[in-house]
Amino acid sequence: MVFDAPGQPLRACERPMPEPEGPDLLLEVSACGVCRTDLHVADGEIGARYPIIPGHEIVGRVIAMGAQATGFAVGDRVGVAWLGRSCGICRYCCSGRENLCDDPVYTGATRDGGYASHVIADSRFCLGIPDVYGDAEAAPLLCAGLIGYRALVTAGEAQVLGLYGFGAAAHTVAQVAIWQGRSVHAFTRPGDVAAQAFARSLGCVEAVDSDLPPAVLLDAAIIFAPAGALVPLALKAVRKGGRVVCAGIHMTDIPAFPYADLWEERSIVSVANLTRSDGREFLALAPQVPVHTHVSRFALGDAGEALKALRDGRLQGAAVLVP
Ligand SMILES: [Zn+2]
Ligand SMILES: [Zn+2]
Repeated sequence: MVFDAPGQPLRACERPMPEPEGPDLLLEVSACGVCRTDLHVADGEIGARYPIIPGHEIVGRVIAMGAQATGFAVGDRVGVAWLGRSCGICRYCCSGRENLCDDPVYTGATRDGGYASHVIADSRFCLGIPDVYGDAEAAPLLCAGLIGYRALVTAGEAQVLGLYGFGAAAHTVAQVAIWQGRSVHAFTRPGDVAAQAFARSLGCVEAVDSDLPPAVLLDAAIIFAPAGALVPLALKAVRKGGRVVCAGIHMTDIPAFPYADLWEERSIVSVANLTRSDGREFLALAPQVPVHTHVSRFALGDAGEALKALRDGRLQGAAVLVP
């Protein structure tokens, strides 16, 4: 399923089977999660190359290997995440921050992704998937789970944590944070009582409209929704010294707000992409919690419908394409 250009609908197409070269693997895709970033690719809001096959939460099985491929064997189940490759030589790669690489490859944005029957992926950036997860259940761990985890680590030791936007990422982070003994407050689109009930069912102590103040001041907040207006709201909701973590790849503009809301050592930070060590850490942690992903399955040919359901806020948890 291909986007030919920004603003174009997904189009089904047939291509010759690619050959894996060098460190690459050829995978038969068994599941691919649908992420909000795929909507930003659809809308031309991030630096994707077109035509592009989206999808960066891929679970697949190795069916062929390039001559320099390492770490996996034919038949292995592997995960492919957003960071398809990093350069390995820039200042960021050389300092443990390959998520900020100057010359990266992003799965489903600058290299074809998993809305397909097969995909090519660099073996050095593939991840092992814990055996306890089915293919579809594992897929959302690879971005929603991983980015959520990186955002949670960035939020620091916060005991009282707010999550703005309760979609695929928040529903995994909430489970980890509650398991760690934190108290989690969920904030959703105003009136989204289904998402609020879902958040409470996972153990959130509060789940309310995002334009309401929290019952208690938060130590930190993570914003998953792509709405810049949430930044000043979240700043008002955190106590002195509190941190607001923006976890999305794209957000609408942040409205002006009084300096007093930032003062007293509150901070706003963003989380960008992920590293392989985030992946290994989170995929080791997820079965211990254990994180359960709530998935809605769609046929590959219905990927456009899955994206529309995500855009309209009609999903609880994560949509996953199964070929
Ligand atoms: Zn680099
Ligand atoms: Zn994603």
